[in-house]
Amino acid sequence: MIKLSAKAKLPTITGLFDIYTFQNSKSEEHAVLVKGDVTGKENVPVRIHSECLTGDVFGSKRCDCRDQLLRSLVYLGDEPFGLLIYLRQEGRGIGLLNKIKAYSLQDEGYDTVEANLKLGLPADNRDYSFAVEVINYFKIKSIKLMTNNPLKIDFLKTAGINVSGRIPLKSATTEYNRFYLTTKKEKMGHQL
Ligand SMILES: [Zn+2]
Repeated sequence: MIKLSAKAKLPTITGLFDIYTFQNSKSEEHAVLVKGDVTGKENVPVRIHSECLTGDVFGSKRCDCRDQLLRSLVYLGDEPFGLLIYLRQEGRGIGLLNKIKAYSLQDEGYDTVEANLKLGLPADNRDYSFAVEVINYFKIKSIKLMTNNPLKIDFLKTAGINVSGRIPLKSATTEYNRFYLTTKKEKMGHQL
């Protein structure tokens, strides 16, 4: 079970949020941005975003992470209430070093799934159980998940979360991310 460890106001370029950090048994440091009062609410817009240093911070065009993050924050900024759960699981859970190794293989022509497998790593090693605990912490009755990934919805439903809807996040295609987005659609079932 998670325990609240700290909370503060966080004004951002897209609106006024509260930032929460929680403690869990794995001593991971995830962040949760809360817009308005989400406690006990229904149909809460929720974005569960996995950390991507190269995209979120540096604006890499190899993926659409920053695009999805900013679209989520802009969306939530305009809503009366909502949540962004930022999970510190870089590179779909394989870590920064392995992600860069996978990029190197992709530079040789492998796609994002093949590159992970060639490194002996799973195509997707993300874990959303912390997000489930956050949603339960706020006693949220149902969520509208901001995602293109049906597996994320399946995971949450299996964990007992009531997903009442999906908010699609359309990303802009660039010459650098076209192959990546096609692979996500064809090999990972994303609804793009
Ligand atoms: Zn990314």
